[in-house]
Amino acid sequence: MWPRRICVVGGGTAGWLAAMMLGDSARRGGHPCEVTVIESSKIGTIGVGEGTTAVFRQMLQHFGLNEAEFLAATGATIKFGIRHRDWRRKGHSYDGPIDDPHLVAGMAVNALDIYQVSQGESVGQTHLFQHLLNGNRSPFAMVQDRRVPIGPYHHAFHFDQALAGKWLRSKAQAIATIDDQVQGLERHPETGDITALRLESGARVEAELFIDCTGFRRALIGPMGSTWVRYGDMLPVNRAIPFWLDIPPGEEIEPCTLAWAQGSGWMWKIPTQGRYGCGYVFSDAHITPDQAKAEIEGVLGHPVEIRNDIRIDAGRLDSQWTHNCVALGLSSSFLEPLEATSIHGTVVQLMLLASVLAKPDDRARAAFNAAAARQVDDFRDFIRLHYVSERRDTPFWRDVAGSLPDTLAEKLAAWARKVPGPGDFVPFPMDLPHTDHHLHVPVLDGLGLLNAQTAKGWLAAHPKLRADARRSARALATEYRLAARRAIGHRAFLSSLHPETAS
Ligand SMILES: Cc1cc2nc3c(=O)[nH]c(=O)nc-3n(C[C@H](O)[C@H](O)[C@H](O)COP(=O)(O)OP(=O)(O)OC[C@H]3O[C@@H](n4cnc5c(N)ncnc54)[C@H](O)[C@@H]3O)c2cc1C
Repeated sequence: MWPRRICVVGGGTAGWLAAMMLGDSARRGGHPCEVTVIESSKIGTIGVGEGTTAVFRQMLQHFGLNEAEFLAATGATIKFGIRHRDWRRKGHSYDGPIDDPHLVAGMAVNALDIYQVSQGESVGQTHLFQHLLNGNRSPFAMVQDRRVPIGPYHHAFHFDQALAGKWLRSKAQAIATIDDQVQGLERHPETGDITALRLESGARVEAELFIDCTGFRRALIGPMGSTWVRYGDMLPVNRAIPFWLDIPPGEEIEPCTLAWAQGSGWMWKIPTQGRYGCGYVFSDAHITPDQAKAEIEGVLGHPVEIRNDIRIDAGRLDSQWTHNCVALGLSSSFLEPLEATSIHGTVVQLMLLASVLAKPDDRARAAFNAAAARQVDDFRDFIRLHYVSERRDTPFWRDVAGSLPDTLAEKLAAWARKVPGPGDFVPFPMDLPHTDHHLHVPVLDGLGLLNAQTAKGWLAAHPKLRADARRSARALATEYRLAARRAIGHRAFLSSLHPETAS
């Protein structure tokens, strides 16, 4: 039976997403359910985490939340993908647009990708988002004084995590909040389930289901005994120093995340409407935080003010859902910021959780845990792929090159013989969005890991698909180039959301 009382601990992005999504699912399913959020004003949220995937927009639509209002209230910007600079080699850049043109091309396989690779042309050319990104455009055009979407794809956002959390909170319906700190758990002597939480004020909070969104503190799931599966030996970076940069007045705001490879890691640069959220995420086995700061100041040509020093113990829980406690967000897993997998993972896991809460038995728990573990393991391999580079200019890049996991080496060997397509990735439960071919191919292409000759060979064996793909690729590239010209500029679009200040 759907739990009558759900207690979410933590008021960061994960906590508010959990409260909203589970409360909404209960209402839609006609399940009587009280949702309470316990958050502590004495403990801040993580304060970084500004890039999303398209899932976040789908979530806004699901709740009937207004995108323009969200963008205006949170200072968010549009994200069409990630610009990867200096990853393959210094001076080289490639983009990872997040739309999938095969959705409109109507082909059984990703023949557009295969065709582009066979021609030695970037796969991005057939992506609407690549053209919008190139022109610093928004995803909307003005038609008869109305703003209309320029294409059928979901874009993503960049936002200030604290403002987005505040806005989500303002939209949450019928959720009780308590400002207090969880200090202990009471557990049933036989089942081991949590029966109540003990708070600093002396209060007790009872519920049937407890959601741990306490970030790296893991205040609930830690004492429940779930263990941490470490990825430190597979992922190269483990420390982050965030900082902000001003956006010079009049400068166009690029609708993409910049992921800029450095000597011992990479720097993110994420535009919100008021500033760039940036940070250097690096390996502290190769440089100290002071050296990282000096390196980034050298690259940027001016001093930066470091806002935090975050240690990353990359990994995930072996069981996110144990007894009647589910961990979500940073308390359940974290890898590193590349590809913005964290908030995406939380939203997808909440969709999974909501689908089984009407019957939260052992089977549901096992299925949820297996799906969540697979999701994070797949993210890990996808992130590790980005570090397959020709760079050998620093000890970091030489070490990274010498430590390619066998599983990834095998996949790369297979993908050099065949451009990966939908059949090479197992669909995620409930067909929820996951790291499939449409995210892998631009990265593999950008890193030079696909083979034009094998793509040509495949097309030669499928002449009908080859002809269709050639026609579609040319038509889409032309259509999308024109569409991008019609789209409103990104900065102009963002300014139009604030009519009182727009000039
Ligand atoms: C360097 C870095 C960069 C990142 N970049 C991205 C990105 O670009 N895209 C992305 O998707 N994700 C990113 N992330 C991850 C993202 O920040 C998180 O997924 C997201 O902010 C959710 O965090 P959270 O809510 O789980 O935890 P937090 O934001 O840490 O919130 C924890 C909450 O728990 C409360 N709390 C803690 N202990 C207690 C207690 N005992 N009692 C009561 N309340 C308690 C706190 O008050 C707080 O409200 C990044 C993370 C890092 C470290």
